[in-house]
Amino acid sequence: MKINLANIKKAQKLLNKNECVAIPTETVYGLAGNAYSDKACKKIYKIKKRPKNNPLIVHYLNNQILKKDCSFNNDFLKLYKVFCPGPITFILDLKKNSKISKIVTNKKNTLAVRFPKHRVARNLLKKLDFPLAAPSANPSSKVSAVSSDDVRDDFGNKVKYVLEGGKSSVGLESTIIDIRNKPKILRLGGLEISAIERTLKKKVTISNNPLKVSSPGQFNLHYSPGIPIRLNAKKINKNEAYLSLEKMRQNKTNFYFLSNNGNLREAAKNLYSTLRKIKKDKYKSIAVRKIPNKGLGKTINDRLKRASKF
Ligand code: AMP
Ligand code: MG
Repeated sequence: MKINLANIKKAQKLLNKNECVAIPTETVYGLAGNAYSDKACKKIYKIKKRPKNNPLIVHYLNNQILKKDCSFNNDFLKLYKVFCPGPITFILDLKKNSKISKIVTNKKNTLAVRFPKHRVARNLLKKLDFPLAAPSANPSSKVSAVSSDDVRDDFGNKVKYVLEGGKSSVGLESTIIDIRNKPKILRLGGLEISAIERTLKKKVTISNNPLKVSSPGQFNLHYSPGIPIRLNAKKINKNEAYLSLEKMRQNKTNFYFLSNNGNLREAAKNLYSTLRKIKKDKYKSIAVRKIPNKGLGKTINDRLKRASKF
């Protein structure tokens, strides 16, 4: 994709004035604001209708810049070297003199940090003298946005500007890891756990109710397309869309598939746009055919499970 410098300049100008701008990243689109500004961060919560006790992820260009705000250890550096920029978010200790707004962290002394790979996001970060707080650009608890059209569908003119960046290539949110002591996965995501374990040369634990840990009670419903979802469905009911990992031999109008031949990366990329499409096509519910629980399939199943708590 060709970088449009005029568009990036427009986003830069708005962000400098403490406005919120939707930005493309390789995971999902983010609703971005100056992470050092209370005013900008308050706007993010307001636009998303996000509960105040759910802290924001902050996006940095690189770890040199991060040094001003957070301290980090060897495990962080090992993962940073291999996977950053990319779909992994680290929970780190905030430094006492960090300029990060208290609104971002809900007064916690930890910060969720990511280094986006998307060229447009990196180009924008290079032009700013602050990092960007940017949770997913969707109303709280709904399906994340993976294109600029998704953001406009969800927010209309509530978001001042949507920076174009094509369809997100990963299509799932980042994997969140608390790296401060014994590495612990807080949210499954676009980077597979096995790759993290290979790099750290040790097992990492997975918090069994990850999202509740950081924000109790807020996450029973998440990633929801707004219609019921049935998992591991064998039969299809009337008015139901049928969602499968791979293209089915039989192809009825209510059949939707995430990939041509079962490729999990392709399926991850298509997951949210397909859920949105099914909703737009006016189906009343979704039956999901069993998806193998391995690699990115684990993340896909995690998202569908949360989305099914409708
Ligand atoms: P989103 O940006 O919408 O993809 O969601 C960000 C996720 O990161 C949320 O689930 C937050 O609860 C989590 N998060 C942000 N900051 C922290 C933190 N300091 N400790 C633990 N989890 C965090
Ligand atoms: Mg989100």
